[in-house]
Amino acid sequence: MTGKILDGKALAARIRAGLAEEAKDLTARGAQPGLAVVLVGQDPASQVYVNGKTKACREAGFRTFDHYLPATTSEADLLALIAQLNANRDVDGILVQLPLPAGIDARRVLLAVDPAKDVDGFHPDNLGRLLLGEPRFIACTPFGVMKLLEEAGAKLSGANAVIVGRSNIVGKPMAALLIAADATVTVCHSKTRDLADVVGRADVVVAAVGRPEMVRGAWIKPGAVVIDVGMNRMPNGKLLGDVEFAAAAERASAITPVPGGVGPMTIAMLLANTLASARTRASAAGRAAI
Ligand code: NAP
Repeated sequence: MTGKILDGKALAARIRAGLAEEAKDLTARGAQPGLAVVLVGQDPASQVYVNGKTKACREAGFRTFDHYLPATTSEADLLALIAQLNANRDVDGILVQLPLPAGIDARRVLLAVDPAKDVDGFHPDNLGRLLLGEPRFIACTPFGVMKLLEEAGAKLSGANAVIVGRSNIVGKPMAALLIAADATVTVCHSKTRDLADVVGRADVVVAAVGRPEMVRGAWIKPGAVVIDVGMNRMPNGKLLGDVEFAAAAERASAITPVPGGVGPMTIAMLLANTLASARTRASAAGRAAI
């Protein structure tokens, strides 16, 4: 069997086109969605991510407020900028690109973002709401994974779902979403014993480890749906996922490629969250009917 390749790029393009239509409508009502992007320092990978996000925003007709700060920026100055963005009525979403330079406490910065503008979904308020089954902003990558699973036609109710990785931005919110979708969820990490065996029992596998091709194709249960979140830049410049793609595709019923799977969906869901924020805020301000 060769699994269906889940084209995240095409799905993201469709979602973004729909969001652009909605943005046009909101803009006509005086509520153009606006995203503020804060990048501190010159990490090349972060620059690529940030450029991708702002470009997608502009293409969808959103306003962007770019704040590219030097690596020498103090935590106090960064917090002052966040306070200013929190108060700016034209800003619906605030994205602080991680990682932040050493010397800045990322936790303190993320806590400073108004949860009502936290379109990354990283604030404890938003993560807590997700855990309670009352989400406001869902972290963009797991949100995108859910859309890909829907696209794959994956039956989640009662399914064994295995997530490899327990980070606050991917693994943990992913677990909350899959639990809410009635899957039986196992979250694996670096101390998990016999990972191959655990993954081998999964109907749905989400790999978010950050280790190239660590999840071997032979581990995959025939017919499983495999979502690869990993993005590992190899010394030759090639991007590899966390799953041994070719071998896994032989066994999976559906699988995401890297690149072109989860990555584009993360950006699309950032736009979806920003638009949702614009709609909510406009409605609260009586600027547009929802
Ligand atoms: P992270 O914070 O480094 O977390 C990695 C997780 O993998 C940890 O929970 C760690 O376990 C676990 N792990 C490490 N070695 C393991 C092993 N041998 N066996 C089982 N589990 C192991 O990473 P992240 O931020 O979640 O990102 C994961 C990957 O996704 C990275 O490649 C990242 O670039 C990619 N990513 C992609 C997108 C996208 O838009 N496509 C977005 C975010 C992240 P412990 O907790 O025990 O240390």
